[in-house]
Amino acid sequence: MDLNQLDERLKADCEACASLCCVALAFDKSPVFPFDKASGEACRNLEDCGKCRIHADLATTGYMGCVQFHCNGAGPIVTRDLFSGSSWQTQPHLLRPMMEAFWVFLRLQEQVLLLRHAANLPLPESKQKELHAFLEELCPEDGWSWDKFEALDHARVSARVKDWLASLRDVLA
Ligand code: SF4
Ligand code: SF4
Repeated sequence: MDLNQLDERLKADCEACASLCCVALAFDKSPVFPFDKASGEACRNLEDCGKCRIHADLATTGYMGCVQFHCNGAGPIVTRDLFSGSSWQTQPHLLRPMMEAFWVFLRLQEQVLLLRHAANLPLPESKQKELHAFLEELCPEDGWSWDKFEALDHARVSARVKDWLASLRDVLA
């Protein structure tokens, strides 16, 4: 995949997302979030339309955790590719499957980001080939679908990517 296209896939396009971080993530009351929120509980600041009612004031009202959070494109992948733009807000039965997919893609997209950084390194050809094979697996050219998601052994591919990233220490030493 073209690296510019990959960068697009890593963007947190909140307009194309069913506000998944605002419901799926648990927060503890802390200097970066002002109250406890359980996973699966919609944030009290989330409006029915999916917008954050305090978006412009997050940094000054104790929500630095929201400012600093980045899903690396997991939210749009789940909402747009897997659930065709549907939202748990209008179809509550989608909440659990959307959250479960979101947790998986949060981890996968974090690894895609690391692979993207690795693409800038002076890697030998064999490692470059392995890198591009991972990217093909984790970033299907024509996007994700529910079928592709179900067919992916995400735990196994995550473990392989982790090992591969660790192997770069020896290559680059
Ligand atoms: S999950 Fe990502 S794209 Fe969705 S609202 Fe949160 S930051 Fe934005
Ligand atoms: S404060 Fe806004 S951005 Fe943060 S979790 Fe709540 S609705 Fe989402």
